[in-house]
Amino acid sequence: LRLVRIFSGIQPTGRKHLGNYIGAIQHYVAGQDAGESIYCVVDLHATTVPYDPRELRERLYDTAAILIAAGLDPERCILFRQSDVQEHSELSWLLSSVTAWGDLNRMHQFKEKSAAQRDLVSASLFTYPVLMAADVLAYRATTVPVGDDQRQHVELMRDIAERFNARYGEILVVPDGQFPEVGARIMDLQDPARKMSTTGGSVEGTVYVLDEPKAIEKKLKRAVTDSGTEIRAGADKPGVTNLLDILAAARGTTVAEAQASMADARGYGDLKAATAEAVIALLDPVRTRYEELRTDEDRLEAVLAAGADKARAIAADTLADVRRVMGV
Ligand code: ADP
Repeated sequence: LRLVRIFSGIQPTGRKHLGNYIGAIQHYVAGQDAGESIYCVVDLHATTVPYDPRELRERLYDTAAILIAAGLDPERCILFRQSDVQEHSELSWLLSSVTAWGDLNRMHQFKEKSAAQRDLVSASLFTYPVLMAADVLAYRATTVPVGDDQRQHVELMRDIAERFNARYGEILVVPDGQFPEVGARIMDLQDPARKMSTTGGSVEGTVYVLDEPKAIEKKLKRAVTDSGTEIRAGADKPGVTNLLDILAAARGTTVAEAQASMADARGYGDLKAATAEAVIALLDPVRTRYEELRTDEDRLEAVLAAGADKARAIAADTLADVRRVMGV
């Protein structure tokens, strides 16, 4: 019997959107019933691209409040800020010695993000996946719930753990990625060829977790659809497929069930209205709770500090083993 220990991180950048919610946050909440759960707001990752230090702090509280509003219970999971646990940075350096430069050079996300930079492409943007590996491996996590865009990074952290263990002995746990069956890759409503994202996506095509119901309705009403009138998922219908995916994920059903539920619809307008309704039902309670939680920064700070104490105890234990076998 292998105990389930779940770890995942989320960046305190931009405004968290429906893709983050459906692809990741929902599954963090469910993880609390599946095993020991550890969730981290990864502020060190946010420093890899230009940012405003004061805004980072605000976004950190925003993100923590969204996670709690979504259903993370600090009594049932560990919720903390990455930079509070220095072991992540030290482990990242040590693990970079068992990371192949050629592997980092193949990371799609680095290629995309570096191409989007106007001046400096930082070395930390390049080594970001090693820090992400350290985040997970420090807790000997078995399970990493993330969206589809993180597949390559999860593969890399597995390679790093395996190479480390082969060289130094079985110290690290090789984690499995956990990708959602529905909603692993929510696309931009204005351009279903690109994923919904804080960077790069369009504001009109991105539903934010904290959007008011009216804004959600408007964005879905204007979502780009496809030619024809038939409501079905398929490669030739990227816009409709994305809406069905969102509808299914928001209702907690399969895509086939979502499609069947639209059998009597008169056209895409009905699909958009049903999807808006489901998304509002999903996000509205979160926004309401968020507004209460966000006003009390002292309380958020206390939750994160308590989480960091628990996290540090686990990470320090792993790091002691790593240092011992590495002879440093
Ligand atoms: P972003 O990718 O928006 O900058 P993060 O890096 O903090 O945000 O991602 C947090 C989680 O949300 C990750 O697990 C990521 O895979 C997931 N995620 C991001 N965008 C999407 C999307 N469009 N669809 C599904 N999941 C997504």
